[in-house]
Amino acid sequence: MDIGGTGIKAAIVDTRGQLRETLYQPSPRTNSALHDFVHSLIKRATAPLRGIGVGCRGVIDPSSTRVKSSPGDLNFLEGQLLSDAIGAGDLPVCAENDARVALIGEVLWGAARGRRNVVMLTLGTGIGGAVLVDGAILHGVNGAAGHLGHTTIDPRGGLCICGNYGCLETHFSSRAIESDYWAHIHRAAPAKLSMSSTGEVPSLEAIFRVAAAGDECARYVLDRAIEYLGAALVSFLHTFDPEIFILGGNIVAAGPQLIATIQDRVARRTRRLLGRDVPIVFQQMVGYGGVAGAAGLVFLKQNLLAI
Ligand SMILES: [Zn+2]
Repeated sequence: MDIGGTGIKAAIVDTRGQLRETLYQPSPRTNSALHDFVHSLIKRATAPLRGIGVGCRGVIDPSSTRVKSSPGDLNFLEGQLLSDAIGAGDLPVCAENDARVALIGEVLWGAARGRRNVVMLTLGTGIGGAVLVDGAILHGVNGAAGHLGHTTIDPRGGLCICGNYGCLETHFSSRAIESDYWAHIHRAAPAKLSMSSTGEVPSLEAIFRVAAAGDECARYVLDRAIEYLGAALVSFLHTFDPEIFILGGNIVAAGPQLIATIQDRVARRTRRLLGRDVPIVFQQMVGYGGVAGAAGLVFLKQNLLAI
């Protein structure tokens, strides 16, 4: 399963990455809601289960399944063992950060199949990052390595959820782009979208849609966000020298034109040092890719699959 800030997804997954049963609901706010969600799916299994793989937002200790930190809506999980919170009895539980399981899903069955040096960014309410170096997920001494969304790209930028200023996430995440569009509405700039009657800010999907239809405000906001993303990608390619770079999450809704634009900008700035153009591609396993990757954790640990 994949526990995110807004929703939780789960599926029964086989070793080919095929999803048998799927389940979704808004993210739980208590242990008992999490427990009930998982067990309602386990009951639907028609074959014996190998274990439970979990991808979860925040810093997760894979050796114990402890949630070291998860700021925001999943705060109730901090300090807990996911294996205890789920209460799966004899079934082994494997857990990792949600962006890392999404990357594992792509390496086992998706856009990076068979690759051993891969970097991935996932666009959601925040920005997740994961790095595979020579076939191993980069963890760092305390498990926080690969939080690429918290790379400083603007030393004079705004305060971020992580405590730093000017992170990539403050310029290129669903919330950053939505806030920027909202600021334009607030200043009465010409914009096609407006606040809803209940005071909700236009969604990222709506901003992508009106940008494609010619809304100047949406185009300006997205162009600026993409410029920041491009600059960050150049740094990530120079730092990690990967075979392939994957963009996942909500960004896939922006359409293939976005990839062409970014690929061109990034290639011109990295070709000299890297000696080649690194392919930048969308995540293939959209939707339940993180769930499949979480199942992949179990298969990797039990040597049923290998990277
Ligand atoms: Zn940050």
